[in-house]
Amino acid sequence: MQLDAMYQEIILDHYRNPHHKGLRDPHDAEAHHVNPTCGDEVTLRVALAPADGAALDEKAIVSDVSYEGMGCSISQASTSVLTDLLIGRTVAEGMATLEAFTELMQSKGQGEPDEDVLEDAVAFAGVSKYPARVKCALLGWMAWKDAVSKSLEKEGAR
Ligand code: ZN
Repeated sequence: MQLDAMYQEIILDHYRNPHHKGLRDPHDAEAHHVNPTCGDEVTLRVALAPADGAALDEKAIVSDVSYEGMGCSISQASTSVLTDLLIGRTVAEGMATLEAFTELMQSKGQGEPDEDVLEDAVAFAGVSKYPARVKCALLGWMAWKDAVSKSLEKEGAR
């Protein structure tokens, strides 16, 4: 099978059978992001668990990521993929993964994704050739970043 066809298959599979979909409790923060150019929407919640009973910081574990969304297959599949990648990681690891994915999305089709880091998210490599679709692929990730920031801010204000 051609790489592009295989990637297409991964995206469609996540779109048809999304992982970890549905809003769950408990959660620390929620973010709602929209991509007006395509009509995509995602509401995403994160739950964090302090690493050692201490304060929530970048060493905290992402104990859950749950979401509801609607829109194109790229936006919805990308959000499904990120739940697989980020649940169970630390906030710092999640931010590093977000950075790797953002870099891939900005590569204009020239990126060489690291499958060890990005797993199914490598399937979006081809999307980086289409500037209009990059926002679709990043929608859920931006909501995740936003929800994590809110969680940490809330902790800081305690
Ligand atoms: Zn879209």
